Amino acid sequence: MLSEGQVKNIKSQLLKQIDSWQTNEEKKEEARRYILSLNPKQLEQFLIQNKLIKTSNKEKQPNPATEQQCPFCLIVEGKIPSYKIDEDKESIAVLEINPLSKGHTLIIPKKHLKIDKLHSSAFTLAKKIARKIKSKLKAESISIQTAEIFEHATINVIPIYKNKKLEKYKAKEEELKQVQEKLKVKKRKSRKIKAKKPKPLEKAPVRIP
Ligand SMILES: [Zn+2]
Repeated sequence: MLSEGQVKNIKSQLLKQIDSWQTNEEKKEEARRYILSLNPKQLEQFLIQNKLIKTSNKEKQPNPATEQQCPFCLIVEGKIPSYKIDEDKESIAVLEINPLSKGHTLIIPKKHLKIDKLHSSAFTLAKKIARKIKSKLKAESISIQTAEIFEHATINVIPIYKNKKLEKYKAKEEELKQVQEKLKVKKRKSRKIKAKKPKPLEKAPVRIP
C-alpha cells in the first residue's frame, strides 16, 4: 500500500501531467477530479494499469490498448472497486464516490465508447435507476446528464432533494454501502435456490434396544 506522502506526491505529479494535455479545460477538470477522488488502493491500481509502477505479479501481461488505461473500463472489469447497483448487457450502474447528492449514480457502458456511440439501453437503465432513486431515497426529481471523460461516455443520474444544493463531496463508505443496499437489484435467483434447498434429513431418534 502506498504511504500518505507517496499518494500526495503521485497525485500532484499526475495533476501536472493533466495540465499539459492538449484538450479542453472541462475534460482536464474532470480528470483532475477523478485523480483526486482515488483512495490509496485505487490509486495504486490506477498506476499499475497505466504501467506507471511495476506489479510483483510477473504473469500479468501488459496490454498497450488505451482502453486498459481508462478508469471506467477498469471499473467495468472490476479492477477498480466500485459500488455496483445494477447492470444490463450493455452497461453497469455504479455509485459515484464523489457524488453531487446522495445516490448519484454513473451508468458506464461496458465498451469503451464516446457519447455519440452510446447505446439507447444505457438511457433505459438510467431511467430505471432514476425511478428507483425517486422512490427509495425520496428524491424530489432526477437530473440525467451525459459526460465523457477519458473518451469513455457515462451517464450521470443525479438525485435532487428539496432544499438541498448540488455540491460535490466525498461520500463515506457507510453512506455508499447504505445507498447500495437500497438501490441494488435483489438477486431473484439466489432466493429461488434457497427456497428449493431440501431440509437436511433428520437424524433417526436413538433407540434403546
Ligand atoms: Zn473506457
